[in-house]
Amino acid sequence: MNIIKEMEAYAQLNHIPIMEKAGIEYLCEFIREHEIKRILEIGTAIGYSAIRMATVNETVEVVSIERDDQRYMLAQENIGKADLTDRITLVHADALTCVVPGNFDLIFIDAAKAQYIKFFQRYEPQLNTNGWIISDNLKFHGFVEHPEIIRSRHLKQMVRKIKTYIEFLENNGNYDTEFINIGDGVAISRKKAEK
Ligand code: SAM
Repeated sequence: MNIIKEMEAYAQLNHIPIMEKAGIEYLCEFIREHEIKRILEIGTAIGYSAIRMATVNETVEVVSIERDDQRYMLAQENIGKADLTDRITLVHADALTCVVPGNFDLIFIDAAKAQYIKFFQRYEPQLNTNGWIISDNLKFHGFVEHPEIIRSRHLKQMVRKIKTYIEFLENNGNYDTEFINIGDGVAISRKKAEK
């Protein structure tokens, strides 16, 4: 079994929320098409999307932040097995407080859904001119479109936060955002050229 299949099987068995197949394939194609070189990922989990993005081609470099100890260690192990330690740098920290040096062509937000606005605001100063911010899980397993089926209070709150984030993107004058109905729902925000 290759490392990608191994990680997919591990994630399914252990309920690790890695990107859906359609979503990651779309993201990799996006990286290829736009010749993206430097990526900041917020939310590594076990390193699945970081490895998929870094294998688009040999010029891609990924810096990825993960706060969970066990997932961070597994991600390190997987990146080693994939022989990508020279192009994927893991940061073991809380993305809401850590400082990551450098600038990026793409910021990929895939961590705690309730904090998406904070992640966006914290890292967007490090986005290159004409860079992109991509956010995952904006459908949140269909609950965002069908909140009437939600019973739990916690889930209701989560969906409310995702809706607030969607409004934040729609009303953000510095970015144009397109919402793509693929995987679990992806938003692609492009920084407008400075006047
Ligand atoms: N991008 C991964 C993939 O597709 O392979 C999946 C990431 S998973 C959806 C989200 C991860 O973000 C979790 O492993 C969680 O521990 C991490 N996370 C959540 N909030 C975070 C934060 N504030 N800082 C760093 N990591 C965070």
